Amino acid sequence: VRARVMEVEESPDVGYEDVGGLDDQLREVRETVELPMKDPELFETVGIDPPSGVLLHGPPGTGKTLMAKAVANQTDATFIKMAGSELVHKFIGEGAKLVRDLFQVARDHEPAVVFIDEIDAIASKRTDSKTSGDAEVQRTMMQLLSEMDGFDERGEIRIIAATNRFDMLDRAILRPGRFDRLIEVPNPDVTGREKIFRIHTRSMNVADDVDYAKLAADTDDLSGADVKAICTEAGMFAIRDDREQITMQDFENAREKLEQDADAASAEPS
Ligand code: ATP
Repeated sequence: VRARVMEVEESPDVGYEDVGGLDDQLREVRETVELPMKDPELFETVGIDPPSGVLLHGPPGTGKTLMAKAVANQTDATFIKMAGSELVHKFIGEGAKLVRDLFQVARDHEPAVVFIDEIDAIASKRTDSKTSGDAEVQRTMMQLLSEMDGFDERGEIRIIAATNRFDMLDRAILRPGRFDRLIEVPNPDVTGREKIFRIHTRSMNVADDVDYAKLAADTDDLSGADVKAICTEAGMFAIRDDREQITMQDFENAREKLEQDADAASAEPS
């Protein structure tokens, strides 16, 4: 059961250099997650507790998981990921048990970064908290908070949560000692997009005519994940055309294809 719902990676092969355009966010993640792991004495000397939990919020595909993996890698920590939706179960006590298992796995693999994606699945504001399903979800959240209270501040286990629906979160989880560091992770601006294009083409066979600044300028409102998708798709265009090198035209075609796919998806009745 464990293996199915939890993802455990000894040392993810992602570094800070793979994250584009999130300099401020990365600095904050390092300060709150990396520093307490690498230099716990610093916090003791100064006499403050490091932040307990960090919450990353922003639209899908902006690099939240990527940053969590990078900080795990850079601190030689095990990366343990679970989706909040996996913690929502019909049976009473099952969500809480999974949370206990999750922290047991983290203790067995110290130092560890625990990443809980879609935290809103277990921490949404509820209009009707009296139905039994909601009560079970709340118990799961309480278990998570009590596990966070339970460990000492030496920093061997750090918790990062993420959500695309910050406005829906129950404010109780944002209280001091809980997820008290909020980091907004927005879509990249034009400079960020150019960096992300460069990151994802690093190992691609790219022709000299490829203009990264132009690609970045033409991809307003796209996420980092979209930029990555354009790079992969550009490679596919070259392959279909029986070429080994990817040209600017391939990138333009890929960008148009992604736009069309997005339009088609938004036109579909949901
Ligand atoms: P979700 O909220 O949907 O879980 P997320 O913010 O966690 O999304 P990631 O899983 O980190 O998004 O991003 C998906 C992929 O998109 C990454 O593996 C990476 O390849 C690429 N990507 C996204 N943002 C960036 C970025 N800022 N720099 C480099 N690559 C990025």
